[in-house]
Amino acid sequence: MSELLGNFWAGRWQTGTGAGTALLDPVLGSELVRVDATGLDLAAGFAFAREQGGAALRAMTYTQRGAMLGAVVKVLQSHRDAYYDIATANSGTVKSDSGIDIDGGIYTLGVYARMGDTLGDRHFLLDGEAARLGKEPLFQSQHVMVPTRGVALFINAFNFPSWGLWEKAAPALLSGVPVIIKPATSTAWLTQRMVKDVVDAGVLPAGALSVICGSSAGLMDQLQPFDVVSFTGSADTARVIRSHPAVAERSVRVNIEADSINSALMLESDAPGTEAFDLMVKEVAREMTIKSGQKCTAIRRVFVPQAHYDAAVQAISARLGKTTVGNPRNESVRMGALVSRAQFNAVQQGLAQLKAHTQTLHDGAAHTLVDADAGVACCLGPTLLGTRDADGTAMVHDMEVFGPVSTLLPYRDAAHALHLIRRGQGSLVASVYGSDTRALSHAAAELADSHGRVHVISPDVAALHSGHGNVMPQSLHGGPGRAGGGEELGGARALNFYHRRAAVQASTAVLSHLQPHSPPQA
Ligand code: NAP
Repeated sequence: MSELLGNFWAGRWQTGTGAGTALLDPVLGSELVRVDATGLDLAAGFAFAREQGGAALRAMTYTQRGAMLGAVVKVLQSHRDAYYDIATANSGTVKSDSGIDIDGGIYTLGVYARMGDTLGDRHFLLDGEAARLGKEPLFQSQHVMVPTRGVALFINAFNFPSWGLWEKAAPALLSGVPVIIKPATSTAWLTQRMVKDVVDAGVLPAGALSVICGSSAGLMDQLQPFDVVSFTGSADTARVIRSHPAVAERSVRVNIEADSINSALMLESDAPGTEAFDLMVKEVAREMTIKSGQKCTAIRRVFVPQAHYDAAVQAISARLGKTTVGNPRNESVRMGALVSRAQFNAVQQGLAQLKAHTQTLHDGAAHTLVDADAGVACCLGPTLLGTRDADGTAMVHDMEVFGPVSTLLPYRDAAHALHLIRRGQGSLVASVYGSDTRALSHAAAELADSHGRVHVISPDVAALHSGHGNVMPQSLHGGPGRAGGGEELGGARALNFYHRRAAVQASTAVLSHLQPHSPPQA
């Protein structure tokens, strides 16, 4: 039997008492390791993190916590090779896709590490200026932001076992809030190993970071009013989290990052053959194939002017046709596997449903797998679907197939395109392509209410832009409506979730002691 991974719980390594769930290689089908959380004393683990970890982190200043994150970065960097090996084996990703998860996570940590210095040697933050409460300036209101005295529970999705942990943990730890991470079972190995390396290096105070692998049963029950929970995953599980008594009755603060039918919009002004059109084609093909389309931000709907529909079909299909699919260990392979058999089956099912309402413009099934047994490997070529009836085909605006699948849709005019994009009911990201800067900024402003991020690509940023689906720590991640209504990252904005805002009403003399030059004793 394979190794049963430990959980770092209540300050020590503990294995579950059950047989565990096996984590598999999605390309070779072999068993890698097992995870289990049976029999762990959940209440003890939460109390340890809340009390020991919380107190130790709050005793540090933002500058000190930033330095602590910097030490975590160094530890992770020194083990990068091992992380790549785990990602290849457990997630079935090619090197560049593993890098988005591993190095993307480390980079995000680094950004928050540096932010610690800018926040300073203090234990809480001021929010805005003091405001007079009456005619006399003597009695005023000053808002403060203080770290919440609870734990941050992260329940994460399978597609980003590294980045998904660190993009949440960096702002939480910088804020002074201890973290409990529950990774998705199918890819929990990388998360567990990273936590293990950081714990073994002794760079965090006891209780600051705990990991529990396996079932999520009972975790939400442990949450108390000053805890927070941040969830990334499907809309179905999000519903369970939101309706849990911890949230519904105990007002535990919750952030939800759910699924999203993201869009790419080609403006009318730039015809096939222009640089902007080529940029759109390139980005759509990239987004469909990076991590085999298992990115919450991936482009699911591509909107092009109806006169350019056929040209778009040809250009995107030509690019997709060049994608080599198969075993990520083979250097010639550009796209690896879906993460598990369950995921492979879910994608096939969703694809069959979408295919019943659309035309298949480029068929992923036609790709011959490189170095992989089609009967075992969870590999699937990229599939471009399309319909000329963008209004009447409701399903394409509704259903997320979490794999290498996008649908091409024609629009009549700009207003029609924006109307169709909004049928996604709120998304994480939309990208817009063109060279007319006024039309691009108009589209961005129009899309901003229904998207967490609008990524605008014009020829002048062709070589500079960060990618439609790439989540940068400086920009907001999250989206309204069906995307979950959450907000993550966005630079220092991420810290808000882990702080409580309160108004202090007092005399000017009292308020002066809250200013940065006189930090309070911890
Ligand atoms: P999922 O099935 O909802 O699982 C997400 C997490 O929730 C896993 O850790 C899972 O644990 C846990 N979980 C399952 N049932 C639970 C319950 N009743 N109570 C508490 N936790 C529970 O989602 P997934 O299949 O891993 O991820 C794919 C989906 O995530 C896609 O729809 C994608 O769009 C979305 N996603 C969104 C974002 C974003 O940032 N918006 C990012 C990535 C993915 P187990 O693994 O042990 O079941």
